[in-house]
Amino acid sequence: MRLAERMGSIGTETAFEAAARARALEATGRHVIHLEIGEPDFDTPANVRHAAARAIEGGYTHYGPPLGLPQLREAIAADAHARRGIEASPDRVVVTPGAKPIMFYAILALVEPGDEVIYPDPGFPIYESMTRFVGGVAVPIPLREENAFRLDPDELRSLVTPRTRLVIFNSPHNPTGSVLARGDLEAIATLAVEHDLAVLADEIYSRILYEGEHLSIATLPGMAERTIVLDGFSKTYAMTGWRLGYAIVPEALVAPLSRLVINSVSCTSSFSQVAAVEALTGPQDDVEAMVAEFRARRDLVVDGLNAIPGFRCLRPEGAFYVFPNVSGTGLSGPELADRLLHDGGVSVLAGTAFGKTGLHHLRISYANSQENLRHALARIAEVVEHLAELAPVRE
Ligand code: PMP
Repeated sequence: MRLAERMGSIGTETAFEAAARARALEATGRHVIHLEIGEPDFDTPANVRHAAARAIEGGYTHYGPPLGLPQLREAIAADAHARRGIEASPDRVVVTPGAKPIMFYAILALVEPGDEVIYPDPGFPIYESMTRFVGGVAVPIPLREENAFRLDPDELRSLVTPRTRLVIFNSPHNPTGSVLARGDLEAIATLAVEHDLAVLADEIYSRILYEGEHLSIATLPGMAERTIVLDGFSKTYAMTGWRLGYAIVPEALVAPLSRLVINSVSCTSSFSQVAAVEALTGPQDDVEAMVAEFRARRDLVVDGLNAIPGFRCLRPEGAFYVFPNVSGTGLSGPELADRLLHDGGVSVLAGTAFGKTGLHHLRISYANSQENLRHALARIAEVVEHLAELAPVRE
């Protein structure tokens, strides 16, 4: 079948493919520890599950309004005010099936062919994929290890041209766990106002933060009218399979996004949305316990990796990933990821799944039990030790 030409420019998220490869290996009888997929291994909190069950029994099984149930849009606006200091009426809240469609819609709504979109490298692969899909020019801003994987505002300034339309950033960050400082956000905001740029702030990990308070760029002067704040329930409430995300958008984007929702999915699952109200307004103990556990795992994994010859791993401030530099092993990220799966039964992603800058890195998700993480660290150490015998370290 002849495909439309544009299908040649769409990318993918290789985490799903890596997980399939790991499962195929498991099917042959091998034991595999999964550290590739970015989803909390915790159950959705019981109060949220029960609210969904009640909602199904109570008849929330029909279409709802395209932009979301009013009670959820109100709860999201109230939460954004309480936690992030964002002053937004519920009319500016757009609820979607997962947070990913927000990237899709925002880029479709804003980017003309030839427009430039600046996105983080390494970064979530869909930013680049969608930009190229709509005919935009994807302009990577490298996040460097020596800058703790934070975006350098001076470098950002150097990438802005008259064709720049949108700047995308993600803090706390997938895949490195880095968190932008207030000064970084202020510099991005100044640039955006000066050049009249739109900003997509991917704040999906805002609650999985180990130091300080989350700051949203949307609260800085002049930013509310140009920022799309992306967030959702997948990570904070361990609800990846429920497909629930949202954005707080400038007034001018509400009607266009509504059109895109109507043209694609009509609305988000109604009973999922009722459960989401409970997630936001009910007790938050499960979220706090999950973050405390993630913090302990972060320390376990960072210390464990730094004890392996050839690995160098920063201690991230948020999200549930580490992005160790493995150049000291003599192998690139993709080569080592392959060896770890086949020789060690540990499934991780190559840093290149997130862009060229990740060549010497792995992305390891520590959304797995401490017991499994300990096993995985031991297996990684063993594979690496063996490598040293086979191939002398090149550094
Ligand atoms: N942004 C980032 C940075 C992510 O890592 C993810 C999920 N891996 C998403 C957005 C999408 O979340 P959702 O599953 O709600 O679509």
